Amino acid sequence: MEKQALLYEGKAKKVYATDDANILLVEYKDDATAFNGLKKGTIQGKGAINNRVTNFMMRLLEEKGVPTHYVKELSDRETLVKKVQIVPLEVIIRNISAGSFAKHYGVEEGIVFDAPTIEFSYKNDELGDPLLNAYHALALKLATPEEIETIKRYAFTVNDVMKEFFASIGVTLVDFKLEFGRLADGTIVLADEISPDTCRFWDSVTHEKLDKDRFRRDLGNVEGAYQEMMKRIMG
Ligand code: ADP
Ligand code: UDP
Repeated sequence: MEKQALLYEGKAKKVYATDDANILLVEYKDDATAFNGLKKGTIQGKGAINNRVTNFMMRLLEEKGVPTHYVKELSDRETLVKKVQIVPLEVIIRNISAGSFAKHYGVEEGIVFDAPTIEFSYKNDELGDPLLNAYHALALKLATPEEIETIKRYAFTVNDVMKEFFASIGVTLVDFKLEFGRLADGTIVLADEISPDTCRFWDSVTHEKLDKDRFRRDLGNVEGAYQEMMKRIMG
C-alpha cells in the first residue's frame, strides 16, 4: 500500500491517502497539545508509543466483538485504517472522577463511581468541543438515534474490556475518549486512537498518573509515563 497525498494534519496525527480509496494511512507525531491547543509541546517517542498502544487495543477490542477501523501496523508510527466519515462526537466514559468532571461538579478527583458515566461533546475546535447530550446531537443531525444507541453500546463494551485488561497490568482506567465513524455502507466502527493521550491511567497501587495529565499539569517525567504504559501493555 502506497502513501499518497497528505489529506489532513491534526494535533497528534497526519492522515494520508493510499492507492486504495477505502484505506487511509495514519502517522502518529510526537507533538502534544492541551487545553484546546493553548498548550503545545513535544513528548519524545510518543508517536511510536501511541501507534503501538492504539493498535494493541484495537486488536483486543475486535477480538471482543467491537468493530474497529484497524487494518495493519506498517511501521513504528504508521498504520493503515479503514477510511470512515467521523461522527463528530467525542464520546467520554468515566469510571472515577477526574479532569473536567471534577471541575464542573466541584468534587475531588478519585471518587469511584457505582456505574460508569457517558457524555458527548461536539467535536468542533472553533467552539471548543462543547458538551452536548443525545437530544442535542439529534437536533444537530450529528448522528441518527440508531447510531447513538450503537455508539453507546460499543462505548460501554470498550470500557468493560479495557477496565479488565488494564486491571490485569496494575493500571486503573479512570476515563477515556472515543471516536466512531461510518464505513461507506454506514456501519459504525471505532476509529481514531486509544492511548495515554486519550485515556487517564493511574497506577493501581500508588495512583501515580501514567498519562497525558503529566504533560497538561507539568508533573514531570512525561516520557517515562508513556514508556511505562507501553512496557506494561506490550509486556
Ligand atoms: P485532531 O483532529 O483532533 O487534531 P488528530 O491529530 O488525532 O486529531 O488527527 C486525526 C484525525 O483523523 C482526527 O480528526 C480523527 O477524527 C480522524 N480520524 C481518525 N480515524 C479516522 C478514520 N479511520 N478515517 C477518517 N478519519 C479518521
Ligand atoms: N479527552 C481527549 N480529548 C479531548 C478531551 C478529552 O482525549 O479533546 C480525554 C482525556 O484524556 C480524558 C477524558 O477524555 O481521558 C476526559 O477528559 P475531561 O473531560 O476530563 O477533559 P480534560 O480534563 O482533558 O479537559
